[in-house]
Amino acid sequence: MSKKNKMLMGIYPMKKKEKSKYEKMLGEKKVFEMTPEELEEPITKEMGELCRHRLEKRWYRRLIELNIIMIIVVVSIFVNNYSKNMELAKEYVAQVKEEFKEDILSDDSKINSDDKSTDKNAEGKSKDKVKETNKKTNRDVKKTTDKTKSDKDTEKKTEKKNDKKSEKDKLTEEDIPFEVTALGYGLLLIVVGYLGLYIMYAQYRCMSLRITESNFPEVYDIVERYAKRLGIQTPKTYVAQSNGILNAFSTFIFRRQWICIHSELFEVAYREHKDMDALKFVIAHEMAHIYYGHATLHYNIPIWFAMQIPLIGSIASRTREYSCDRLAQRLTGVDGIDAMLILVIDRHLYKMVDKQDYINEMRSIRGFFVWLYNLFVSHPVMSKRILALNEGRGSGRLY
Ligand SMILES: [Zn+2]
Repeated sequence: MSKKNKMLMGIYPMKKKEKSKYEKMLGEKKVFEMTPEELEEPITKEMGELCRHRLEKRWYRRLIELNIIMIIVVVSIFVNNYSKNMELAKEYVAQVKEEFKEDILSDDSKINSDDKSTDKNAEGKSKDKVKETNKKTNRDVKKTTDKTKSDKDTEKKTEKKNDKKSEKDKLTEEDIPFEVTALGYGLLLIVVGYLGLYIMYAQYRCMSLRITESNFPEVYDIVERYAKRLGIQTPKTYVAQSNGILNAFSTFIFRRQWICIHSELFEVAYREHKDMDALKFVIAHEMAHIYYGHATLHYNIPIWFAMQIPLIGSIASRTREYSCDRLAQRLTGVDGIDAMLILVIDRHLYKMVDKQDYINEMRSIRGFFVWLYNLFVSHPVMSKRILALNEGRGSGRLY
């Protein structure tokens, strides 16, 4: 593989040009090595872009292109099948017309032959009498069979009704082309998914605690300060109990973003280690998602279908995670490794870890199966993520 290709795939952390840009901006320092004054400065657009993973925008463009290609392919298959069906329908109509013409012609010839026979046989009057006698005998027979027939008729009617119903069902299923049902289900999924975000927001509003000036004011202050520095609207932040799952996320409803932190992760700032820095990093990472626009409808809609492709979607997601880690370092002034260690060995033990030894251990983790595992996950594997955090500059390795 050529060096250029390796750089494109993210194997090399940075291009030479970008490195010099960083050096100009940061000097010799790492992103999180800042003075207290620098920690109060607003994040400029240039700094935000420098913290962004260098392949994030490229992968976002690829996702949009893939999304468009997928839509074009589905629409073209639909149009192709539709035109084929139209041709078949035309052929069928033409065939029916011909059959109809043939039937009319044969009926005309029959009528003509009947007319000729009536002209020739003038003795038909005598036959009428015979017909009348036959009718009388038939009426008698009918009276006896009526009772049995009526019973049979009711049975037949119910059978016919059932048959008609099943025929109707078959027709509706067969008549709708597969592409239309697929498109319908796709659109339904988008609508249900979007409504699901509102339901989720309602659930967290009802079932969790919102951080306010009165409830955990220190955290409220952090969120407000970061929002100011990033130049974004202060997102509502909730703490939710989640039965031991250590997680945090930022999401949206229409134009409003909100953050949720699971209580097990939240409590690191208040219990045992009273580690506000780890919590700061978690909050900053989620706010970075909002800053970069990852948690918006207009960002997600154009990549909706492409994100469902496992390998492609996960690569793009990893670029976003690296971007947010780097910006979180810039916002907080901490490396964020402690926050990662909480995820690795839980909130009680992470302070007992020898960080340098752990980083050295992460450096040694390589191999095909590590590469393969990393390929399919939405967040970079910890060995790569920790090294990127420790680096404090540039873009983390995607593969
Ligand atoms: Zn994230």
